[in-house]
Amino acid sequence: MKHPILFRLCSLLLASFCLIGLFSASAPQAEASIADELAAGKNKLAQLEKEQKALADKYAALQKTIKDTTSKSKNALKVKEALDQTVATLESQIENAENLLAGYATQILAVEQKISALNTDIDEQYELFKQRVAIAYENGEASYLEILFGSESLSDLLVKYDLIRDIAAYDRQIIDQYRQTKTSAEELRGELTQMKASQENTLADLEDQKADVIKQRKKQESYIKELESDLEAAIEAEAQSDAEMERIQKEIAKQIAENTRLEQSQYVGGEFLWPCPGRRRITCVFGPRIHPVTKKKSNHTGVDIGADTGDDVVASNDGTVITAGWNYAYGNYVVIDHGGGVSTLYAHASKLKVKKGQKVKRGQVIMLVGSTGYSTGPHLHYEIILKDGVIDPLTKFDSSQYYIDD
Ligand SMILES: [Zn+2]
Repeated sequence: MKHPILFRLCSLLLASFCLIGLFSASAPQAEASIADELAAGKNKLAQLEKEQKALADKYAALQKTIKDTTSKSKNALKVKEALDQTVATLESQIENAENLLAGYATQILAVEQKISALNTDIDEQYELFKQRVAIAYENGEASYLEILFGSESLSDLLVKYDLIRDIAAYDRQIIDQYRQTKTSAEELRGELTQMKASQENTLADLEDQKADVIKQRKKQESYIKELESDLEAAIEAEAQSDAEMERIQKEIAKQIAENTRLEQSQYVGGEFLWPCPGRRRITCVFGPRIHPVTKKKSNHTGVDIGADTGDDVVASNDGTVITAGWNYAYGNYVVIDHGGGVSTLYAHASKLKVKKGQKVKRGQVIMLVGSTGYSTGPHLHYEIILKDGVIDPLTKFDSSQYYIDD
C-alpha cells in the first residue's frame, strides 16, 4: 500500500528514529561486561573441569588400590588359613608323638616290672635250691664241695653226687630260663628306651616346627592387619573423593547454567540477514502513519516488505522462537529471541514453519509470506526489537539491500 503524504512525513522523521535506533542498538557497556563475565565464567568452568579430571584420576587410582589391596588381603588370608592348617596338623602329630611316648613309658615300666619280677624269681629259685640241698643233707649252709668232700664213702659220695647233680641241673635249668627271659626283657627295655628317645627327638622337632609356623602366622596376621588398615584408609579416601566429585559436579552444573544464562543474555552477534530473500521493495517504512486497514493514526513498528504469498521468510539471525502463533493484528507471526534483549518479529504469514521454543539458525525458513491479520495484501511485516523497544529495521541493513517504493 502507498500512502504518499504520510510517507513523506515518515521520511522526515526517519532520521531521528534512526539515531534513536542506533543508540538503543549498541549499548556497548552492558555487552562488554557480559562478555567479560562470560569469559570469566568459561575460565572457571575450564578450571572446574580440570579439577574434575584430576579428581576422577585420583578416584580411579583409589579404586585400583582398593581392588589390589582386597586381592592381596584375600591371598594373605589364604596363606594364613594354610598356616592354621599346618599348625593343626603339627598339633595332631605332636599329640600322636606324645601318645606314643606315653605308650613307650608304660611298656618300659611293664618291662622293668617284669625284670624286677624275674630277679625275684631267680632269687626265690636259688633259695629253693639251697633249701632242697639243705633238706637233702640237713645242711643248708653246705656247698657242693663240702657235701662232696664230707662223704663217708665213695658209694655215699656217688649217691650224693648224683643227687646234687640232679638237683643242680634242675635248678640251673630253671634259673637259666629265668635268666634268658630276663635278658630278652632287658633287650626289649633297651629297644623301648631307644624308641622312646627317638620319639622324644621327633616330638622336639615337631615342637620346633610348630613354633616356626606360629611365628610365620603371627607375621602373616600383622600383614593382614596392615592390609586391612590400608583398605580402610583407601575406602575412606574413596568416599571423600566421591563427595568431592559430587561437589565439583554440582559446581560445574551451576557454572554451566550461569554461562548459559550469560550467553543468553548476550546478543548472538553478527549482522542481520535480510528476512525476505529476493524481495527488496519497502512498501511502508517505520514510524507514524495512518493505518491502511483501520485508517487511524498509528505508529508503524516495523517495515513492510512487498512479496508474494508463499515466498520464504528467513530468520535474521540465530536464536530461539519465543512466539509462533496468531494475533488479530499480526495474523500468523513469529518472534525470535537473539539474546541480549534483541529479537525480531515477522508477521502476516500464510504458513508458519517453526514452533515456540525451537532453536533456529540464521537464514532458516521460518514461515511463508501471506496476508493474515490486519493486512491489505501479501507482504512481510518485519520488526527489530531491542531492550528499549522497536527500532527502524532499515538502520540495520545496507541501503543497497532495499529500495523504498512510494
Ligand atoms: Zn507493517
